[in-house]
Amino acid sequence: MTDDRLFTSPFNRHSRPIPGPVSLFDTTLRDGEQAPGVALGTDDKIAIAKALDDLGVARIEAGFAAGAAQEAVSLKEIAGLGLNAKIYSLARCTEKDIDAVADTGLSNAHLFLASSDSHLRHKLSLGRDEAVAKAVSAVEYAKSLGLNVQFSCEDATRTDPDFLERFYAAVVEAGADEIDIPDTVGAALPAAMEYLAGRMSKLGVPVAVHCHNDLGLAVANSLAAMSAGASQAHVSVIGLGERTGNAALEEMALTLYLNHGHRVVDLSKLAGVARLVSRYSGRAIHVNKPVVGRDAFAHESGIHVHGMLNDPTTYEAYAPELVGMDRSIKLGKHSGTHSLSSRLAAMGMTFPEEMMPELLAEVKTIALGGKEINDLELAAVAGGLMWKGRPANTVELKRFRVTTGRGIVPEAYVTVSIGGEERSHVASGNGPVDASVNALRGALGEPISLEEFRVEAITGGTDALGEVTVILKDKAGGGEATPGKAVGLDIVDTTMVAILEAINRIYERRKAV
Ligand code: MN
Repeated sequence: MTDDRLFTSPFNRHSRPIPGPVSLFDTTLRDGEQAPGVALGTDDKIAIAKALDDLGVARIEAGFAAGAAQEAVSLKEIAGLGLNAKIYSLARCTEKDIDAVADTGLSNAHLFLASSDSHLRHKLSLGRDEAVAKAVSAVEYAKSLGLNVQFSCEDATRTDPDFLERFYAAVVEAGADEIDIPDTVGAALPAAMEYLAGRMSKLGVPVAVHCHNDLGLAVANSLAAMSAGASQAHVSVIGLGERTGNAALEEMALTLYLNHGHRVVDLSKLAGVARLVSRYSGRAIHVNKPVVGRDAFAHESGIHVHGMLNDPTTYEAYAPELVGMDRSIKLGKHSGTHSLSSRLAAMGMTFPEEMMPELLAEVKTIALGGKEINDLELAAVAGGLMWKGRPANTVELKRFRVTTGRGIVPEAYVTVSIGGEERSHVASGNGPVDASVNALRGALGEPISLEEFRVEAITGGTDALGEVTVILKDKAGGGEATPGKAVGLDIVDTTMVAILEAINRIYERRKAV
């Protein structure tokens, strides 16, 4: 499927257009880092800045030069990377902060001063006129150092509108190159941002908006502002930021492309960048996060999966490939037989159609406890049904011994009985399980490969019962995937039992052919 296959609603043409040009101002490394519990080191910041640049964002706010000591070091390093994006540092309206930005070698400063009466009174103890004068002299100072200035009236959305306009007009007059309207506490509705962006756009410099997600409206607010003339949206990867975060980069980028035709980043890299930021920040990506969440393209319900398998446009607003994601079909209590057959076919298993209802019933029983059923489990359940009641165990495990430890090569000695005839084999391996599997394979002399192997503890503690699931492929018998499953206290022994179960199934199938 290509990028061109877009599935948006035809009714979207009734929304206000965003003529553009528009771009993103990413603040993952500044507002994102201010998220509670997030702390990024210089190397982390460099890796994220490079990834954002590679993604193609126009502007990156990489930190706060006058903040923690390490901030200036990180900013200096990022300034020296020669990235395509314009790199900004945040700065308060003081000469010390502005000097700190200039000292890093950056040429872009994001200056801010609060404008709401609440902030002026309770935080800054400044009168309105004093605040404007302070901002004006800071902008003039930054311009005198040759910096490009984006100016934010902090808490703009809770500021008296006429005073706000006077404030922005004064900083523009003083030389600010761009202005930003922050919805600092995420209190505004889309129509409010639309109004503010429209009004401040008349001041003659590019307008940015900085929307927080306290009401879950950050993306909607940013889009509304862009429809009224804002040309930049402040965003962060996976919406990382103060409290509930900022407008999510991936959501903004996707909607701007899908509904307005603006390709502001390389969309196919969104999933990768989200994973990178999640790893460095230690913040999980919510499973239901739009665009990049694990379940953004996951389907479980039988009705949906049936539709999806015929044509993905039935239950997806856009193709996962567009944003670097994969589609997945989950098995659970809402599953239908179409999901089962497609998953079994993908694993290379042939399962009799007439037994499907029975398999579905088993899957639903397992899923009742809320357990998600993965491929290995499905294969094991399907295998169990297929070979139920057949005479088995032509191969029996007689004895085995494994030696393992630190500084020695793990080795296994295995004796099996095949149709009454005993065969033994010794083999080494990377660990006790690997050595045992190798010895078993040697004793059988069969071209059988271990395709998948998983151990799960069923109960907690060191005496936990382990559940081993394996999938073998019979290279001699057409390569059909054959599962085996066993439960026991000893992981190595249980693995052998699971493998033997699968091997006996392979032998049964060969006999039947
Ligand atoms: Mn913010």
